[in-house]
Amino acid sequence: MRYFLAIIGGGPAGYTAAEKASKAGKEVVLFEQNAVGGTCLNVGCIPTKSLLYGAKQYYNATHAQKYGVTAENVTFDFAAMQKRKTIVVRKLVAGIKQRINNEHCTLVSGFAKVESRTDELVTIECNGETYEAENLMICTGSTNFVPPIPGIKDNPAVWDSTDALAAAELPKSIIIVGGGVIGMEFATLYHELGIPVTVIEALPTILPNLDPEVVSVLADKYKKAGINILTETRVESIDGGKVTANGEVYEAERILVSVGRRANLNGLEALKDIELNRGAIVIDDFCKTNLPNVYACGDVTGKIMLAHVAARQAEVAVGRMLKQIPLQRIAYNAIPSVVYTNPEIASVGITEAQAAELNIETEVRKLPMTFSGRFMAENEGETGLCKMIIDAKKKSVLGVHMIGNPCSEFVAAASFAVRMGYTTAEFEQVVFPHPTVSEILHEIL
Ligand code: NAD
Repeated sequence: MRYFLAIIGGGPAGYTAAEKASKAGKEVVLFEQNAVGGTCLNVGCIPTKSLLYGAKQYYNATHAQKYGVTAENVTFDFAAMQKRKTIVVRKLVAGIKQRINNEHCTLVSGFAKVESRTDELVTIECNGETYEAENLMICTGSTNFVPPIPGIKDNPAVWDSTDALAAAELPKSIIIVGGGVIGMEFATLYHELGIPVTVIEALPTILPNLDPEVVSVLADKYKKAGINILTETRVESIDGGKVTANGEVYEAERILVSVGRRANLNGLEALKDIELNRGAIVIDDFCKTNLPNVYACGDVTGKIMLAHVAARQAEVAVGRMLKQIPLQRIAYNAIPSVVYTNPEIASVGITEAQAAELNIETEVRKLPMTFSGRFMAENEGETGLCKMIIDAKKKSVLGVHMIGNPCSEFVAAASFAVRMGYTTAEFEQVVFPHPTVSEILHEIL
């Protein structure tokens, strides 16, 4: 059979595209070498959030005195946490299979390799069979980057995030190399379960891409709580569980290396003319590559490595392929992002620094989260922070950056304001329920 669309990779980009195109009646073949759901569902977002939730329950139980609750002999069972994580993932993977289970969608389990491509036809080999399609969508994702640090390769003490998630037992102590999103989420997990944690970050701050004031609230809290955060520290070498950085030696049972991810281009070697930038596939506003019938979505494009970006890219790409009117572009300026530390960080839109780079004159408003009654009631000892970046001339909302639980759950309201280009006066007309922490977005206006 000749398919309308062949998709390589069944993560959030691939399964979203498969669902949308097949439900529009187009014949689709989706190739996935592991389980559908990709990194996010199987070895990323969902398993980490499942474990983090377990850790938070334990941490809250042992830190509830401030709410007048004392619990004695609180213990946790890491094996039970891992089992629950596996069940959550299994159920969600089954749900994804259900979503793409229709007469127009064929799911093929195996490693797919592009054999040839013309402007009319792409041929793909998988499990010894050849598949033909008019269009190709590359959704092959990314893999953990292994930096060229001596002693990292074939060192059983060194983990990447996938190893850490699969571990049957907790490490007795851990050094995390890279204080980015993955590093700080794992630092949270281990710290809340009572494991000594050292974070080694090469740049002057952890989470260097986020608003520095918001990040400093987290860094101060974590340092006070006993997490050893070393910034401007370069790892020179690793030997077993020993890490040499800035001339000092640090030691732990395990070393988690989380210094970024790289686009996965395996199986695409036949697409010799595809345009790349720093090892990622270059796409236009509709996720089209430079090759007429080839699209790419998700981490492999190196745009913003987030599952919700991948899914939105897939919607836009399929819309473009199906020539849906009006054609929609992705609003990269209004993509929310969350770091699941405790407290959580959530942001959308540009930071003050990015506004300055773009020569945009801004007005910056700041408010502690304690201006929200619900926040006060539920976050004893925390102050939190909400920052809004406003275009000084147009008075439109350009960015919102927050720290404080549960800001991940209402950052979408701020995304809406940024996406729609709301002025502060327009955003002020939105009514937020009382008492909720989301009211901070109204208080700050
Ligand atoms: P990252 O880019 O967020 O962070 C990597 C960090 O490592 C940076 O702070 C960098 O300065 C530091 N670093 C690089 N080389 C170093 C070295 N040799 N020594 C010490 N520090 C070094 O990458 P990540 O944390 O690996 O995450 C990968 C991707 O996955 C990111 O794009 C992230 O957004 C995504 N992700 C998102 C979520 C979420 O949305 N909650 C969760 C996990 C991962």
